[in-house]
Order: sequence, then structure tokens, then C-alpha cells
Amino acid sequence: MTRSTTEIEKIQEASNIVADTLQLVKEHLKPGAKTIDLDQMAEEYIRSRGARPAFKGYYGFPATLCMSINNEVVHGIPSERELHDGDIVGIDCGAEKDGYYGDHAMTFAVGNVNGSVRKLLETTSDALAKGIAQARPGNHLHDIGHAVQSYAEDAGFSVVRQLVGHGIGTQLHEEPQVPNYGKAETGPELKAGMVIAIEPMINEGSYDVYTGDDGWTVFTSDGKLSAHFEHTVVITNDGPKILSLPTN
Ligand code: MG
Ligand code: MG
Repeated sequence: MTRSTTEIEKIQEASNIVADTLQLVKEHLKPGAKTIDLDQMAEEYIRSRGARPAFKGYYGFPATLCMSINNEVVHGIPSERELHDGDIVGIDCGAEKDGYYGDHAMTFAVGNVNGSVRKLLETTSDALAKGIAQARPGNHLHDIGHAVQSYAEDAGFSVVRQLVGHGIGTQLHEEPQVPNYGKAETGPELKAGMVIAIEPMINEGSYDVYTGDDGWTVFTSDGKLSAHFEHTVVITNDGPKILSLPTN
């Protein structure tokens, strides 16, 4: 599906709100912070911008943010759990405004982390950038995943298969699915006006994951670390444009 200029402006507005929310939460990430308090802060901020937390109530998800710590991959539920020095925390957030959605995630270090942890975060962020760079008219959908996978595996990490990116616009999740792995020059042709959320989940060890007893939190099967970065991106005739950037 392709979107009009007016629709893309609305998706951008929702995406900006999400990016601003993550910047706000980032400022309060420190040892001793409770994830439930950060979630509350995010919800209040999103509502203050005239938007609605897109995850809250989505298939019954109970919170505004997904907060996934260390060996949690995605979909962690905020709780009374405190962050500790040396943790990494993936924060995923969606907002809806005027019927249009934005979706964005980053993984942050809490306090001090060692060099190998930092490498996982940097590689995942850079793998997202490599995927985004492929989001241009005339390329094929799996050029994105191929770029992500090549970059992450060259760095010695693995790419989660069971969860993928997605189209976004008037729903949080739309077609097409956007895997973070694949064969170059395969899949549907990309066209100007398509809006997609690209979101590599990169594991320190094996790519295998499972869903925990709460029905939401996805964990690495080997208990090793995982990182997640996501942007909402529109494909334009000039190439990819990231919509989920902070406004200041
Ligand atoms: Mg997301
Ligand atoms: Mg997403």
C-alpha cells in the first residue's frame, strides 16, 4: 500500500511523538528506576500531545511501553522491577494520533556496560541503518532483511526469525511483513509512498526465542542478551526517510 503526502504527514506526527517519548524516558533511565513508573510517564506524555498509546489494549497488552531487559527480546511488560547498573533495556513505543500510527524502539544501556554489550547495541542500531538504506524504490522487500542479516552476522551475532517488522499507517501492523533476514533481490518491489517499520532484533547467541508464562515477554532461548531498534520509515523517490525522529 502507498500513502498520500497528507497521510505521511500524519504518520510522521505520530512517529515524532513516539520519538519524543523515548527521549523523555531515556533521561530517566537509571539504576533504581522502576519500569512501571517510566511507563506511566510515557503514557502521560503521549496523551499530553493529543495522542493515544497504541500498544495499550492491543490484543490486551497492559502498558504503553514494551520494556525488555537483558535476555528479554521484545514485549516485556513494565512492572515494579527496578533497573540495575549494567542492564540493557529495549524500549518499544507506539502512538496513534488522528487515526495514524507511529512505532519506534531503541535499546539503552543502564549505567555502565562492558565493551561486548556496547558492541551488541551498536551493531543492532547500525544493522537497522543498513536495512533502512535499502528502503528505496526499485529495490525488493528482502533487500532490507538481507542487509540487516549480513551486517549482524558478520559482527558475530544472530537475527531473530520469529518476529518481524511490518507495514504501518492506519493500523499499527499492516502488510507487508518485513523480515530481518532474507535473500537479496526477492520479495515485492518497493515503491515510493510505502511506509514500513523496520525493527531488527539481534541476539548475542542463538536466534531462537520463546514466549514466557505471561503470554507476552519474548526471551532468548539460551538466556543471552538481545537488542532491538526500530524506525518508522517512508520510501520516497529520493530514498528512505525516517519518520520516527525526535522534534528537538
Ligand atoms: Mg515497535
Ligand atoms: Mg513494530
